[in-house]
Amino acid sequence: MEKVVIIGTGCAGLTAAIYTARANLSPLVLTGTMPGGLLTTTSTVENFPGFPEGVDGYELMVRMQQQAEKFGARIQLLQAVESVDLSKRPFKLVIDGQEIVTETLIIATGAGHRHIGLESEHLLEKKGVTYCATCDGAWPMFRNQPLVVVGGGDSACEEANYLTRFGSVVHLVHRRDSLRASKIMADRALANPKIKPVWNSIVTEVLDVKQDKVTGVRLKNTVTGEESILPCAGVFVAIGHVPNTQIFAGQIEIDENGYVIRKEGSQTSVPGVFVAGDCSDHVYRQAITAAGMGCAAAIDAERFLGALNQ
Ligand code: NAP
Repeated sequence: MEKVVIIGTGCAGLTAAIYTARANLSPLVLTGTMPGGLLTTTSTVENFPGFPEGVDGYELMVRMQQQAEKFGARIQLLQAVESVDLSKRPFKLVIDGQEIVTETLIIATGAGHRHIGLESEHLLEKKGVTYCATCDGAWPMFRNQPLVVVGGGDSACEEANYLTRFGSVVHLVHRRDSLRASKIMADRALANPKIKPVWNSIVTEVLDVKQDKVTGVRLKNTVTGEESILPCAGVFVAIGHVPNTQIFAGQIEIDENGYVIRKEGSQTSVPGVFVAGDCSDHVYRQAITAAGMGCAAAIDAERFLGALNQ
């Protein structure tokens, strides 16, 4: 019987692991299919306190994992949770056919990339359509070619800036006429001579499925309704995230957008199940807030276990 199982190894999960490990609870930490979480796909993190020069996102996550392991966290790599039973304690999880039983559970499953939802986007994924500039931007097919980034938030601005290293020009396609991104990120993107904003536009098709590669995007102007074609070799979709909570549907309370609802502190609707990070936060969604929520979930789980044993 485990005392604490943590699902997820982003900032939330690994911080919860550090705290529960230091509390001698020997947490079992399940990475899922993206060890280190979304931060491993970003470039330099400039706003995590304590790193005035910035820190590489991947390196930050590796260091958090080392810190958790140093205190006794047991990290299981590349395990996707198949099912959970939270109807009574101890809770049961099935992973690769193996059952894990635990007194408390910390859900820190994060969020995945939102897709535009076009069939052509799906068919050309990894053939020029991608969701991560840091992971895929250096592919030879993008070198000195026009590229498209879709979105108007911090992610889109960050991706566009990064891609100017590789592409001849980066078209930033946004559905409105002003960016949602923070001022510093927006100013940086708009001041970059290689970034060309394309306002009031949505992608209605990624071309060209027949050629089995990206040759351009079909755009529709959201104000005039006019259609046009913008040639490009790559489409980088950066339009936000969807919480990874499907596996808990029907077992704990989840809002209409899929985010786990927090009751008191990090408590979910099921006593003994706690939540932290992007899977329950559609407001802040920062590395540091996820880490703070992971800390809170660990302390709540520790107190819950303490009360059980009194
Ligand atoms: P976001 O802030 O939710 O922005 C998503 C963008 O995509 C918005 O501009 C939105 O348009 C657009 N969009 C959403 N659905 C769309 C659709 N179906 N078709 C076309 N466009 C669509 O997401 P994010 O940029 O990934 O940022 C998420 C969080 O991470 C934010 O809190 C952000 O501050 C943070 N972040 C921080 C950094 C940093 O500080 N270095 C870097 C990356 C992310 P509208 O504006 O019209 O809604």
